Amino acid sequence: MRVIYDAVVVGGGPAGTTAAYMLASAGARVALVEKEQYPRTKVCAGGVTPRARALLQPILGPRWNAAVQSAVRSVVVWAQGRSPLRFSGGEPLWHTVSRDVLDFLLANAAAEAGAEVVTGWRVTGVEWGDSVLEVRSPRGVLLARAVIGADGARGVVARSLRIRPQPRRAPALEAEIPVSSAPGWSGEEAWVDHGVVPMGYAWMFPKGDRISVGVSGLTTGNRLRPALRAFLAAHSLDPDAATVRGWMIPVWCRNERVSAGSVLLVGDAAGLADPLTGEGIYYAVQSAALAASALLATGPGPNAGRVYEASLTETLRGDLYWAMILARVVGWSPQLTQEWLQRYPAAFEWLRDVAAGHTSYRQLIHRIGSSRVADLLQGIVADRGSSRGEGTRG
Ligand SMILES: Cc1cc2nc3c(=O)[nH]c(=O)nc-3n(C[C@H](O)[C@H](O)[C@H](O)COP(=O)(O)OP(=O)(O)OC[C@H]3O[C@@H](n4cnc5c(N)ncnc54)[C@H](O)[C@@H]3O)c2cc1C
Repeated sequence: MRVIYDAVVVGGGPAGTTAAYMLASAGARVALVEKEQYPRTKVCAGGVTPRARALLQPILGPRWNAAVQSAVRSVVVWAQGRSPLRFSGGEPLWHTVSRDVLDFLLANAAAEAGAEVVTGWRVTGVEWGDSVLEVRSPRGVLLARAVIGADGARGVVARSLRIRPQPRRAPALEAEIPVSSAPGWSGEEAWVDHGVVPMGYAWMFPKGDRISVGVSGLTTGNRLRPALRAFLAAHSLDPDAATVRGWMIPVWCRNERVSAGSVLLVGDAAGLADPLTGEGIYYAVQSAALAASALLATGPGPNAGRVYEASLTETLRGDLYWAMILARVVGWSPQLTQEWLQRYPAAFEWLRDVAAGHTSYRQLIHRIGSSRVADLLQGIVADRGSSRGEGTRG
């Protein structure tokens, strides 16, 4: 007799491994299907915020330490030639991880919880059978009562069932360069340059004995390569020293259906990355936890999708709306944002609170609206208007 899984999870990144771990831990019969063999590479700067770490650490336990490469204790922010601002203090702002190690460890945790981890299986489609779902691959067919599509920004699950989230995709380039090629670089500092590309930024993150350099923005991909070269050159780094790899970040832009019955999309497959920062690991793990909870609460069937969609809207999607508003403001004028942060450094602490999960983007915008910050912004805009006026008169 053929096995019918309670759930087949397609894709073994942070989203898929978390979903498989949670379902298997609750006693469900789960297969996690990944097209690559672990450890596999993933184009990613590997920044893990405190709120993401709070979700990952209970899954990994002490093995979390094996994935960590650096603790980022300060960040220097540039914007189009303005004086850089440095923010630091207290606990690490975020950690960086090696994604090949992190994802491998998460897959091991899912296996230990009881999930069958099937690697080297590229899923080619998912179809409705008589009463179960058929997950197809050239290596065979798996039968399931529910499917979690965790297969990333170009996922096949969404395509084959015509669940069509149309996230806005921010193209991104990333490369890792040896620390030795960046004299004077502090291993605990990150650099972020807004305004290198429209609606985006370039970064340098410490990653152990390497540095992740990259650029991403809501722009066409062919503008990124020259922007990255210019960013590296501006920081006295050899633009030819790095092997550059490209992928995309499906940043959230509007509510769209991300389920069909008991087929639920999570993480990048659902287009759930942060439009302000590009953070996707937190959203991958959190959406996977919501999807697993919905399936466990309702069992497979149309209710699973309804419960999952409602919980997403109440939590992640609701808040990503406010992140998108902030992203537009920052993208509209990185210089203005820089000036504002300079005059009101407390705002950086607020952003830090969001990254730590202590507050939400919604609450952050509320704080901005109900504080002196809004007056300051108006003041900056007025100052600029009058200095422009003086310039024309002169
Ligand atoms: C350049 C760059 C830098 C980034 N930096 C950061 C950062 O610093 N911090 C952060 O939080 N986020 C970052 N992100 C975003 C982050 O990488 C993603 O949001 C995150 O990996 C999403 O996790 P996921 O599990 O949904 O998808 P993925 O990590 O993409 O995993 C999908 C998995 O599905 C597998 N798969 C795909 N198709 C199939 C198939 N047909 N059959 C079987 N398996 C399949 C893939 O091999 C992969 O293992 C960055 C992204 C990019 C492109």
